[in-house]
Amino acid sequence: MLQLTRPTHIDVGRLGRLSLAPGFYVYVGSAFGAGGLRARVERHWSGRGRPHWHVDYLRAVSRPVAVWYQVQQSSREHDWAAALARGRGLQPVPGFGCSDCRCGSHLYHAASAPSFDAFRRRLGRRKPGDGALQRL
Ligand SMILES: [Zn+2]
Repeated sequence: MLQLTRPTHIDVGRLGRLSLAPGFYVYVGSAFGAGGLRARVERHWSGRGRPHWHVDYLRAVSRPVAVWYQVQQSSREHDWAAALARGRGLQPVPGFGCSDCRCGSHLYHAASAPSFDAFRRRLGRRKPGDGALQRL
């Protein structure tokens, strides 16, 4: 979850120029690459590294405020995006972070910080072998 304190424009690769309202942005991703969850969270939290994903351009103008995560047998990032889409007060940023899937977005904006407990309820039951939803 990233916080943006003022209206901002960013250029995001092929997505083009986005006008972003202040508030909270919840981005969904997976971390099955080298270094796993720790490496991915450290990258996004620190903001270091060359821009690669759409979220890197947002990260450059915002500050991280929370990380919600779950250790899973297989990726459920698209289920998470769907759960965010059902959230009250959450608006998708169309096409963001989902150029290789069928979701409408992997980034959701809210004027005030979204609730962890409400998100956990919307996710529903854990799949066998999945860990608990946790936050940093
Ligand atoms: Zn997706």
